[in-house]
Amino acid sequence: MQLNIEDRFTKELPADSVLDNSRRQVKEACFSYVSPKKTKTPEMLHVSPEMFSALGLSEEDAKSKEFLNVFTGNSQLPNTTPYAMCYGGHQFGNWAGQLGDGRAINLAEVKHDNKHWTLQLKGAGETPYSRTADGLAVLRSSVREYLCSEAMYHLGVPTTRALSIALSGDEVLRDMLYDGNAAYEKGAIVCRVSESFLRFGNYQLLAARQDEETLKTLVDYTIKHHFSHLGKPSKETYLQFFETVLNNTLEMIIHWQRVGFVHGVMNTDNMSILGQTIDYGPYGWLEGYDHNWTPNTTDSQFKRYRYGAQLEIGLWNLFQLANAIYPLIGETEGLEGLLHSYHEKAERQNLSMMRSKLGLFSEEKSDAILIVNLEETLQLTETDMTIFFRNLSDFSSEKPSEGLRIVKDAFYVLTEVSDSIKQQWNSWFMQYAERLQKEDATSEERKENMNHVNPKYVFRNYMAQLAIDDADKGDYKLIDELFQLLRKPYNEQPENEKWFVKRPDWARHKAGCSMLSCSS
Ligand code: AMP
Ligand code: MG
Repeated sequence: MQLNIEDRFTKELPADSVLDNSRRQVKEACFSYVSPKKTKTPEMLHVSPEMFSALGLSEEDAKSKEFLNVFTGNSQLPNTTPYAMCYGGHQFGNWAGQLGDGRAINLAEVKHDNKHWTLQLKGAGETPYSRTADGLAVLRSSVREYLCSEAMYHLGVPTTRALSIALSGDEVLRDMLYDGNAAYEKGAIVCRVSESFLRFGNYQLLAARQDEETLKTLVDYTIKHHFSHLGKPSKETYLQFFETVLNNTLEMIIHWQRVGFVHGVMNTDNMSILGQTIDYGPYGWLEGYDHNWTPNTTDSQFKRYRYGAQLEIGLWNLFQLANAIYPLIGETEGLEGLLHSYHEKAERQNLSMMRSKLGLFSEEKSDAILIVNLEETLQLTETDMTIFFRNLSDFSSEKPSEGLRIVKDAFYVLTEVSDSIKQQWNSWFMQYAERLQKEDATSEERKENMNHVNPKYVFRNYMAQLAIDDADKGDYKLIDELFQLLRKPYNEQPENEKWFVKRPDWARHKAGCSMLSCSS
């Protein structure tokens, strides 16, 4: 197995001078050297072909003993120095101080086809940032992260990637529901891959400690390697850097809204500086279209990170990042101006995203009202987001009275769709039909366009749970079946129609299917 190693992070940024793996505050450094823990009886469960090819590896490599050993932490790639990154963050709106990679260990950086990738094991043992926890991950959260990151990639949503998922052979103690019933679960390790795992929290922690020197080093490093088109560091470049992060973050969240993804824990330590979806924890997919929904049980009281709040939270998090890099700029006007531009941009992009979901390619003033009316009507009864938008592409502006029949499969309880709700739907379909008359595209063209925007298959929460239950019993076929299904989420796959269904009733209240805890 030959990987083209080209480490930059450890070579160019200050390292923690303490080398022992003890839990501590790490100052004036961006990372700590630490080796993954050896595992008992590692077993590779799945490897992503797209990802191993991107790294310059072959199928043979992926099947090798060396691959298994390296990506479960049992042997080290030659000439590499694994490390954990130091960062802080705001958790649920409160500054939490130092957090850091408590159970993630970066192995090395690889350059292939002019692309730079960092390889990172999640669940590979303790680091100086593990605080009170064990540095490990369980099978259920690992299956969820592995499948979801690749699914998001194929949906066209910016995301960190996943190379592999393996069992460690070790047992991990978890109190899944936080109800005092801790139990042993199978330990697992996912190898995540991204150009960079830097988060808002990396910059925030240095700013909070008033360590401007390291802060500048890190920001300059980030621009040099990840935003190189911006040029040499200067106050102007720092502002452009912030503007790019703002734009990328916004774009990512608009994609989440489009596919119905709820991150669940938008803490600033979980916000990638590249605007990628990162840290798949208690995330979920909207089934019933509901702006108030969050999958995260830890957030069930205030629902800070609910579907309908994600764009607003993006701005809140960007404020924190702006505060962090402010010392390098020394004046507030530029940063404030950019932050003020967010709402207008978000509104414009959200409108344009919703237009595309409706197959509208021209712009009409009335579209905003059409969309608000739709969102309100969708929330009158439990209505499946994915099925609704996918089936809507069959709507004909010549037959508005057929609308309800076309989207019927999206309703969870048909009897809830009362006569007055039916009336609201019919009047919305009339509005929509009128609006479609102003479009040039034929119905076929519209359908084709809509089906590139509205996925047929998403990684519904119950699907993840089915794969987890099987995997826990030693059957990994469903992991592969879902992996293959989600590679082409916009395609009709007649043989996979069974996955184009509403969440089954048994999954409504089952742990892992509708609500998830942070325990992983
Ligand atoms: P998360 O909510 O998963 O993004 O994690 C928040 C913080 O807790 C990060 O610093 C993680 O590294 C840390 N953390 C989460 N789970 C563990 C674990 N099992 N062992 C050590 N640290 C953890
Ligand atoms: Mg995290």
